[in-house]
Amino acid sequence: MLRSISLLLLIIIASIGAVHAVDSTSTTREQTLSIIKPDAVAGNHIGEIIALFEKNGLRIDALSMKQLTKQQAEDFYAVHRDRPFYKGLVDFMISGPVVILVLDGENAIAKNREIMGATDPMKAEKGTIRSNFAKSMGENAVHGSDSKEAAKTEIQFFFKPDQVFIR
Ligand code: GDP
Repeated sequence: MLRSISLLLLIIIASIGAVHAVDSTSTTREQTLSIIKPDAVAGNHIGEIIALFEKNGLRIDALSMKQLTKQQAEDFYAVHRDRPFYKGLVDFMISGPVVILVLDGENAIAKNREIMGATDPMKAEKGTIRSNFAKSMGENAVHGSDSKEAAKTEIQFFFKPDQVFIR
């Protein structure tokens, strides 16, 4: 009797643990959108930037090289429409091809922002993409989604579901 009660207890504890483990994985693994901007593409830094993502534990689920249209750049950065730098930002984003990626991993959104460094490359931590490759606040090498909502919208902006591969 005692043995079967202990066995039952063991099964209950194990199953609680299993549910917990699945929960913690599903809540922290996420996807984010990254754009290697025209300055970094022109500077021939695509490979170095992708290597930084992979070295830091992010996986690439989708990748595409594109020349953005004016309309796409305007729509993508619509949230900044009223900012003084908006026109310059749109002109810059269409000045040459970009590489667009879906990255995934544990806390991918925050991790990508950390790897990117601060918006202003002068303030970006050493070793970050913007510290390594960006020259100015306007031409700052990479874009990265800044929230779960933005990541979802931005991934859908550029990729159809069958173009994204969760590996
Ligand atoms: P991010 O999330 O770090 O890229 O920064 P934001 O979302 O605040 O801004 C979007 C992009 O607009 C930045 O990456 C810059 O390319 C550009 N930007 C933001 N602030 C400025 C600014 O004060 N001056 C200029 N020239 N560009 C800016």
